[in-house]
Amino acid sequence: MLDLKKDFPIFGENPGLCFLDSGASAQKPSYVIDFVADFYRKTYANIHRGVYKQSWETTVLYDKAREKTAEFLGVDSPESIIFTKNTTESINLVAYSFGETLKEGDEIIVSIMEHHANFVPWQRLAEKKSLKLKIAYIDRESLILPLENITKLITDKTKLIALSMCSNVLGTISPFVEVCKIAEEKGIKVLLDGAQYMPHHKINFKELGINPDFVVFSGHKLCAFDGVGVLYGKKEVLEEMEPFLTGGDMIESVSIEKTEFAPLPNKFEAGTPPIGAVISLLKAIEYLEGIGLDKIEEHEKTLAKEAIKRIKEIEGVHVFAPERISNGIVSFTIDGIHPHDIATILAEDNVCIRAGMHCAEPLITYLNQDSFARATFYLYNDLEDVERLVKAVKRCKEVFKL
Ligand code: PLP
Repeated sequence: MLDLKKDFPIFGENPGLCFLDSGASAQKPSYVIDFVADFYRKTYANIHRGVYKQSWETTVLYDKAREKTAEFLGVDSPESIIFTKNTTESINLVAYSFGETLKEGDEIIVSIMEHHANFVPWQRLAEKKSLKLKIAYIDRESLILPLENITKLITDKTKLIALSMCSNVLGTISPFVEVCKIAEEKGIKVLLDGAQYMPHHKINFKELGINPDFVVFSGHKLCAFDGVGVLYGKKEVLEEMEPFLTGGDMIESVSIEKTEFAPLPNKFEAGTPPIGAVISLLKAIEYLEGIGLDKIEEHEKTLAKEAIKRIKEIEGVHVFAPERISNGIVSFTIDGIHPHDIATILAEDNVCIRAGMHCAEPLITYLNQDSFARATFYLYNDLEDVERLVKAVKRCKEVFKL
């Protein structure tokens, strides 16, 4: 079992904190915080614009973050890594710029388990451009997403499949490898939302034998600072796309008549980027790789399995997870207690979980629920946290005299 609380100052500063909300945002290790604090003390300047030492050193670090991110994903071209604000912005960039190329009657497939970030942009685009948005449903019993439920929706009008690699509510892993292979054969573009996958699993697209057109994720869920998101795009696809934002740093030349855009990646990084957050991503990836993503995955699974087994033994508790647990996501309900009340009572015990629709209202509605309580385990959690969750859930029932 990993024993990493000591690496994360938040636990030292808050004795007794049982943090089970990493699915929303992960805590940051000293390895990341200290490096970035030091960087701001000693090095900081804007990138790309100065010939002096600080600007040059900052640019080197910023570019190193891009190289590290490409290596982390197992893709060849660092210039295909675009830094954005978060997963949401990465998807909106694609919906805006790639969306420009779509025409009336074209079809987009998403799954019912998408986070709103990978649903609303496509729904809006479909409305604006008279496209057809098709929904691939999960199986209500097993909570898995059968490949066939996606492939049966494919027609010769399908232009994009936008798919979550892992559901933020159920922990369900989608058949994204097969989808990429099938889509590539048929010339359909694929966008993979890796917001809940990248922080918890080892990935190498080259080794998997796939090269998705777009991959997106957020730094803040994998121990980096908030403010940085990633968009990986196939080079030739990004090169064809119009820029999303325009302004400084994304141009080659500007005259009164015309602007020539800079080559990748600058074309998609207008204005001053979130420099410190990007550098925090470099350090966060180094930190996670130092521990081993495969070890992190095993650790989380062990904790989630134990938590599910224990809370399921409590009468009236229902867990919503596929049989094969792949990560640390544990969504549950308790008969007779609203999830918001569960989260509030757990917070009194310093047990931090999240309750609500988790930005996945179509999924929650499809499952005939109105909300879930969700605990998420990450690399710094331990069996004591499982114990705390179980105890707090039991107390919750006592409070409600159930
Ligand atoms: N996609 C999934 C699967 C998520 O879980 C989340 C956030 O919870 C997002 C997208 C949006 O991420 P962000 O808020 O960092 O843009």
